[in-house]
Amino acid sequence: MELLDLLYPRECAACRGPAGGAGRLAVCAACDGTLEWISPPACARCGAADRGKGCAECRGKELLFAGATALGRYEGRMRDLVLGFKFRGARHLAEEFGRRLAARIERRFDLVVPVPMSRWKVLFRGYNAAELVAERLARHARTPFAARRLRKLRRTKPQAELALEERLTNPRGAYRAKAVKGVVLLVDDVLTTGATANACTEALRAAGAAEVHLAVIAR
Ligand SMILES: [Zn+2]
Ligand SMILES: [Zn+2]
Repeated sequence: MELLDLLYPRECAACRGPAGGAGRLAVCAACDGTLEWISPPACARCGAADRGKGCAECRGKELLFAGATALGRYEGRMRDLVLGFKFRGARHLAEEFGRRLAARIERRFDLVVPVPMSRWKVLFRGYNAAELVAERLARHARTPFAARRLRKLRRTKPQAELALEERLTNPRGAYRAKAVKGVVLLVDDVLTTGATANACTEALRAAGAAEVHLAVIAR
């Protein structure tokens, strides 16, 4: 048995059947074909699947980041995979998602930065999924990675528990960044209202980032 077999389970993360071969570490070929991936062309501003005629997902929305890339839609089995990755210890999915995101991103960035979690939350959950995927993405894209450049200053209520209006203002001012230069790629697990990514973008811009782009697993 090779080392990789020990690190990465040979069962498919979506159907629990035997996993695929080379290049598909986490999902089997059958699941890969049915998962809710967003295939290019996608909306450059919010990463949604481009259905032509402009993007209904982000029209009229205040998004502070300069552009976004999303691997999939946050629904169905893709949502199950992301939830397993975030909450149920499926840490090996970071490699799969990070590699795929690096392949999707067309431009060069100066730095990859994950959306941070507060320290108590990392202790409670064991890891920050956004940080794991950001680290893998950076490695595959051969881009510098800084896990601690952005910090979460205060606890925010879980976005899922709030009404839409509250969700938009909840994370505002909750993040602070250390000095940063150039074009930054911010990485999160999921993009919903954009409020968290906006708050992180504001912090990074305030710390000197020329431009901030966003990469997420799903939206
Ligand atoms: Zn499968
Ligand atoms: Zn859009």
